[in-house]
Amino acid sequence: MRQNFIAQSPLYIKWIIHRRLAHPSKDVIEKAWKHLKDFPQIEIPKEDHICPGCAQGKMTNRPFYASTRRATRQFELIHSDLKLFPTESYHRYKYVIVFFDDYTSHAWTVNMRTKDAALTATSHFLAMVETKFGSRVTQWMSNAGGEYKSKAFNKMLLDRGIEILQSIPYAHQQNGRAEWIIRTLMEKAESMRHLACLPQSWWEFSVEHAVHVYNQTPLRRLNWQTPFQLLWGERPTIDHLRVFGCGTYVFIPAETRANKLAPKSELMTYLGNAPGANGFVFMHGPNNILYYATHCIFDESMFPKCPKPAKTPSTQLHQEVAPPQHYHPVDEEECPPPRHSSKTYPGGIEEHEDLGPPLPSTSESTTRERSPALPFAEHSPPREQTPPGQGPTSLSRREETPPPLPATR
Ligand SMILES: [Zn+2]
Repeated sequence: MRQNFIAQSPLYIKWIIHRRLAHPSKDVIEKAWKHLKDFPQIEIPKEDHICPGCAQGKMTNRPFYASTRRATRQFELIHSDLKLFPTESYHRYKYVIVFFDDYTSHAWTVNMRTKDAALTATSHFLAMVETKFGSRVTQWMSNAGGEYKSKAFNKMLLDRGIEILQSIPYAHQQNGRAEWIIRTLMEKAESMRHLACLPQSWWEFSVEHAVHVYNQTPLRRLNWQTPFQLLWGERPTIDHLRVFGCGTYVFIPAETRANKLAPKSELMTYLGNAPGANGFVFMHGPNNILYYATHCIFDESMFPKCPKPAKTPSTQLHQEVAPPQHYHPVDEEECPPPRHSSKTYPGGIEEHEDLGPPLPSTSESTTRERSPALPFAEHSPPREQTPPGQGPTSLSRREETPPPLPATR
């Protein structure tokens, strides 16, 4: 990331960091250098700008009465809550269930189509804790919602020897940690989605990316360490993060281009890291098809889904025949693999302003080390994968239809 910032002003770097980190407060930006690898070594400028993403995505402040009690080890106490969305998502999800580890403040989410899926999602989460971390959950805190008080749900927890700490009805403040993490994730997701002008039904992508970024963001509660560090014992690297929803020129393999004169790349919308593999996931514009790739050039100043400002010529110069003035980004190289690949949760579990003048394009390069697989947190639901051999040509012929429903979840 440092390479991209050479010759850039500190204010520009501050903007980009703010966007890549999913719109955190200025306190986070000021503290982050110490707790994140690859953080640019600059003096963070005091000046600031109004951020449209923050303005549209953050909610009014509402106090949370979270318990002052604190777990003393990982997975000792898990807080959980459910979020209903008003719009069905790209993959027809309606709900998100959140798991929050009290000790590390690490969060995981699972997208669901029905409330009933909470049982399976929780069962898979508990299994992940046991197999991946060799640990066991001791206490479970959730609200008194129907999905958490069914006999089957309670039996599953009790069979594992887990103490149930459900809040009493209408006393949501008793589940304050869970409500706090849902609000935090929603603010990040909505700030990113609004800034990039993405439709409401794409919330699942912004929420998944918000969880991924949140876990690598310093928290005051952790004395400005990150949840990632408390869970994995090392500082996270953030050089794989890009501005959510930004335009990206994605390389199209020669064998899938229309012909030898066809462009070597197509402009797509960046939606985050590809789950379980090195690479990124993009939305192919004309017909909303997901596309996975590693070879690409990011333009973090441009959002393909945002309406272009009308250009009203004020002179006759536009009638002149001018030489083409194309911006040529820096050398095209392989995009870095994401720091964390991750989806390891079989049940569907998953684990960033009119900012002033346009920002210059950035090109990604460099081969980076493979990171350890992400915790469950990064897991996302099954997505439509473009079959090998299908490039932009075939994509453009596909009908705009959402992916089929899975048989069961
Ligand atoms: Zn912002």
